[in-house]
Amino acid sequence: MESTLRRTWAEINLDAVSYNYKKIKEKIGADVKFLGVVKADAYGHGSVQVSRLLEKEGADYLAVSSADEALELRVNNIKMPILILGHTPKEQVKSLIDNDITQAVTCKAKAIEYSEEAVKCNGTLKVHIKLDTGMSRLGYICDKGYFDTAVEGICNACNMPGLEAEGIFTHFAVADELDEESDAYTKHQFELFTSVIEAVEAKLDKKFKIRHCANTGAVARFPETYLDMVRPGLLLYGYGEFATAMGLKPVMTMKTTISTIKIYQEGTAIGYGGTYKTDKITRIGVVPYGYADGFLRAFSNKCSLYTKAGPAKLRGKICMDMCMIDITDMPEVDVGSEVEIFGNNNSIDEMAAIAGTIPYELTCAVSKRVPRIYIKDGVITEKELLLRG
Ligand SMILES: *Cc1c(COP(=O)(O)O)cnc(C)c1O
Repeated sequence: MESTLRRTWAEINLDAVSYNYKKIKEKIGADVKFLGVVKADAYGHGSVQVSRLLEKEGADYLAVSSADEALELRVNNIKMPILILGHTPKEQVKSLIDNDITQAVTCKAKAIEYSEEAVKCNGTLKVHIKLDTGMSRLGYICDKGYFDTAVEGICNACNMPGLEAEGIFTHFAVADELDEESDAYTKHQFELFTSVIEAVEAKLDKKFKIRHCANTGAVARFPETYLDMVRPGLLLYGYGEFATAMGLKPVMTMKTTISTIKIYQEGTAIGYGGTYKTDKITRIGVVPYGYADGFLRAFSNKCSLYTKAGPAKLRGKICMDMCMIDITDMPEVDVGSEVEIFGNNNSIDEMAAIAGTIPYELTCAVSKRVPRIYIKDGVITEKELLLRG
């Protein structure tokens, strides 16, 4: 289904993805592999389009969250290795094997399940062993008295029929936080990770092909953690302080247009709950962008959208499909005028800070009814509307 209406849209600058990829490659060096994290539809940017580009650029691996996300890439003819970071129900093991998809193994119970299923269908499931070194989420626990149990469990998993342990990985909890305590925590996670690997490799007399742990924060700050492969998400999309420091480019620009303009008298309540009252004659622009498009209601009365005459303050509560901005004294802003929600003029990092959240949440929140407009070599190459039909 193609979008025809010019109303609200997300511009996805694939040239910026290429640029960021090359810059990150320069930083990590030729000997370190690159895994692009494209889970959650590539943080809202479109996993198929981003993966296609990374494949063409020569990236080594992709990571997604679920089997469905991985299969979506295969159906769209992405041939690169794909790692599923999250849980896959055992009923799907055959499909993973048939589609050459790599699965994370996060504990003994899953290792056994996956092994049994792989044997049942006479196949080999490629797996990466996941360690919980301090994130306290998925993975073999290995800290505080669990070291030996972890080493034994991982060795067992590596020896199970039907499983091929190609890699081993862990995830940092505070690599993007700048205080000393966080740095010490990350260092501890990393040392634990390498100690477990060393013990397992000694026991098995075999090396893992791909050891990886560096997310965005670690890619930016801890080169010693790169090992065989890095695993950035946010950095690739060009958001956050580390991207800014590296001179990377934000990939998404959210834009909308003014659909209606009204002039209200002083003392008029604007929107649900009447949370904003005009203090003078006020020119209000109604914009077709609401919380159903991904505009968190927490922004109500708190941020500005960027017009050609500068920032225009949000007035009243954000509705499901609309919001209202103050364009008093901005005569050049008219019906049909373009308004930037976030992008080069209105930084997504500053927007996220206003809502007390992180840029990840804002791009992931962009809903399926917002058409994605893809730009490559400076021109529009694709318009995608994610509604059925
Ligand atoms: C999401 C995720 C990443 C990427 O994190 P960023 O902070 O976006 O770089 C890396 N590894 C795992 C396991 C993840 O879940």
